[in-house]
Amino acid sequence: MDLITKRVYGAEDILPADVYKWQFLEDIMRSQAKAYGFKEIRTPVFEHTELFNRSVGDTTDIVQKEMYTFTTKGGDSLSLKPEGTAGAARAMLEHGLYNDGYPIKAYYLTACYRYEKKNYGRQREFHQFGMEVYGAASAYADAEVMCAAHSVFDRLDVQNISLEINSIGCKECRPKYTAALREYFGSHESELCDTCRSRLTRNPMRILDCKSPVCSKIAADAPKVLDFLCEECHDHFEEVKGCLNAARIKYQVNPSIVRGLDYYTRTVFEFVAPEVGTVCGGGRYDGLIEELGGQHTPSLGFGMGMERLLLLLNKQNIAIPEPPVCDLFVIGLGEKAKQKAFSLIEGVRSASLIAEGDIVGRTLKAQMKYANKIHARFSMVIGDSEMEENCAVLKNMTTKEETKVPLDDGFFNAFFAAYVDDSNSDLINRLNKMK
Ligand code: ATP
Ligand code: MG
Repeated sequence: MDLITKRVYGAEDILPADVYKWQFLEDIMRSQAKAYGFKEIRTPVFEHTELFNRSVGDTTDIVQKEMYTFTTKGGDSLSLKPEGTAGAARAMLEHGLYNDGYPIKAYYLTACYRYEKKNYGRQREFHQFGMEVYGAASAYADAEVMCAAHSVFDRLDVQNISLEINSIGCKECRPKYTAALREYFGSHESELCDTCRSRLTRNPMRILDCKSPVCSKIAADAPKVLDFLCEECHDHFEEVKGCLNAARIKYQVNPSIVRGLDYYTRTVFEFVAPEVGTVCGGGRYDGLIEELGGQHTPSLGFGMGMERLLLLLNKQNIAIPEPPVCDLFVIGLGEKAKQKAFSLIEGVRSASLIAEGDIVGRTLKAQMKYANKIHARFSMVIGDSEMEENCAVLKNMTTKEETKVPLDDGFFNAFFAAYVDDSNSDLINRLNKMK
């Protein structure tokens, strides 16, 4: 085939055969978000570039190198969202959601765009599940969002995922730490990579995040942020740990976690798995809402990478259950029988069960083969004699059990009875296996 074009580098198609995996994850995320009292927020795929410059921060890799920014015909600079927090915060402020009182709890499932080199678990279009809480300063809020992220991994039965936490202080204590880092890294200036040398003046904390072996070796002996926390930040961090202990969530304090976005204050955290690295990152951003023009509003949240989570499930051989694709396949032979089959199929579908019939003109044999291929639970053939007798044979494709059923309105009761029987025996089998 001579296609005129292919998909854009770094973007992936999610095909019909795989989409159930995404839907399964999304269902778990939505139900956990609901359990924690969060409502969904959907914001546009693009925003005014200024929003990301201000919130994500113009010294970050995201803003400096990774954003898809373009100028509209009207001359506005817009950017595709590289993460979900900024748009959600903008919408919360713009619509005055705070008028209904705090906390405001919102979650999102969104595509994000970053101009990055494609790599294992790294794409240019990727997807995040995220949760945000506005107007909550208490350490219980920090623990609540970490527990919420943890609950998603728990429901999926993910193994060996560790929660690493740190506190990066506030605008009172951070400057002292930044000064200490500047002094320390300054004495190693000639050894640092070019990017880190420029970070030295602008944002030395980011050097701690550098992946180059030389920089990370130097960073290992750098002053530790926890030694610089003011009393309030120190106490808050202790309370967060206490709340996590109360919820029996295991964690490790990792003083080198700084996160790649400018808006974080105090608590930062990551869920890390050995197979894929960081799957989820988040923290507190007490200054963000003010930065965007709102009142001081202590807030926090996280973003979880969907592609990385799927890779992790795959690595850990965690199978996502395939949904049924067909409850009943009806074959009609001859024009009259075909019309009968079509009307029965429609009837079954109106009860939201999955019914299929031939729409491509297959022979009887080929239709049987197809019904097997799509794992139809039941099949039924209607021919001349069935039309005459006004009844047909319903076949359970797994047990091969056959039931004579009427073809008038009585069909639906007979089919649903067989369907419920089959579902129950399936359930009993599964329960027996659990013992
Ligand atoms: P990394 O260090 O891997 O670049 P990050 O610090 O840039 O991650 P965040 O901005 O915190 O990531 O995003 C949260 C999560 O989103 C990450 O932990 C990861 O699972 C996922 N993620 C980030 N960038 C990408 C990408 N380019 N492709 C796929 N997933 C991504
Ligand atoms: Mg990144």
